[in-house]
Amino acid sequence: MTVSLEQEINPWEAQSARFDAATKKLNLDEGLVKILRYPNRELIVHIPVSMDNGKLEVFTGFRVQHSIARGPAKGGVRYSPDVTLDEVRALASWMTWKCAVVNIPFGGAKGGIICDPHKMSPGELERMTRRYTAELVEFIGPEKDVPAPDMNTNEQVMAWMMDTYSMHMRQTVTAVVTGKPINIGGSRGRREATGRGIMITCDQAIKKFGLRPENTRVIVQGFGNVGSNAARLMHEAGYKIIGIIEVDGSIYTKKGIDIEALWSYREKNRTLAGFTEAEKADPTELFQSECEILIPAATENQITSRNAAKIRCKILAEGANGPTTAAADEILAANKVFVIPDILCNAGGVTTSYFEWVQDRQGYFWKESVVNEQLADIMISSFNDVVRYADTHSVNNRIAAYMLAIDRVAYTVRQRGIYA
Ligand code: NAD
Repeated sequence: MTVSLEQEINPWEAQSARFDAATKKLNLDEGLVKILRYPNRELIVHIPVSMDNGKLEVFTGFRVQHSIARGPAKGGVRYSPDVTLDEVRALASWMTWKCAVVNIPFGGAKGGIICDPHKMSPGELERMTRRYTAELVEFIGPEKDVPAPDMNTNEQVMAWMMDTYSMHMRQTVTAVVTGKPINIGGSRGRREATGRGIMITCDQAIKKFGLRPENTRVIVQGFGNVGSNAARLMHEAGYKIIGIIEVDGSIYTKKGIDIEALWSYREKNRTLAGFTEAEKADPTELFQSECEILIPAATENQITSRNAAKIRCKILAEGANGPTTAAADEILAANKVFVIPDILCNAGGVTTSYFEWVQDRQGYFWKESVVNEQLADIMISSFNDVVRYADTHSVNNRIAAYMLAIDRVAYTVRQRGIYA
């Protein structure tokens, strides 16, 4: 069946296409398929905010809980002008599958607010975040649904959410969100965790190609939380980061970018533009340049049926959620690109969020070395599980990850039974 590009890049369609392929392979009961396909609950809220200019603005926000079969729903909150309910739905289901791939006791959720945070003052952002949280008070909680940062939200936003929820509960409830600042219940290592998880999966993947970090060229798209930490840690580990693609400037150098220098430059100038230790590059050309590892760590739909044939990496390590469409999967498979699918590759973030939630509930905080060690254990065994599953069932890594995850969630649903 041919689909239009519009349909191809709809994240819900992208999620559903893989879900359908995986459930068919699993030969899953029709009723279970129906249960697992759609989110449990979807909430739309309208958030009035007093803007700095004295006017009132009303923002639309979402929270979708896809599944709570394996534990509390878990997933980030994104602020973006073009976030849609379909996108949040897809992201919520991806969270269910992601938590199941790494076998942590969470279901999946996601949230978002349609807004342009770059055009808002800190005061406006705080008021919007607090009112959004207040609207979600009955919906979220340490045992119900635990939000976290995602695109354009950060530790500060999580601190406001935690405080607002705590004010409503009349007690401090640190475990209601993860990705918080360390002094108010955040976990050591959480900030770098998604990037670290990407590196750990890449460390495993390059072994399959007989590569070492020193002879592995890497291109990273997006230098935000995920991309910059992946680049920094991989640079430290000896990988050659030859290209960085960002909206405000893309850079390339054959000999490898000094990521520490780039990091300091960005801290000082708030942009990558003007960094002179690498050449300016065209973002599209750089994305399609030859390298061993390409890490899309920005946003969805970067690899579609239109450009998949031009991708020239050996390993595609999906830092972002949904960077590749279902139609592109087939082209990449035909070209023998080894894909580390998003629900495995970027699961280091939610895994460390799980550690944060555990630490908050214990009231006992681990050393960073303990966090990193536990994370490595989970990421390595999950990588091996997925690759083994793919070999055993003769499917690609993505479908293997979905099958593994769906099977685990379906098992739990069957075991718990249907409440009537
Ligand atoms: P972020 O907002 O910190 O960074 C995203 C970066 O990508 C920004 O610097 C932005 O300028 C850049 N960008 C956006 N569109 C781009 C484009 N077309 N080309 C180049 N650069 C572009 O967000 P983040 O937290 O790093 O998340 C990035 C992706 O990773 C998202 O898909 C998110 O859902 C996913 N993810 C995040 C986490 C986490 O822990 N933060 C965990 C798992 C997955």
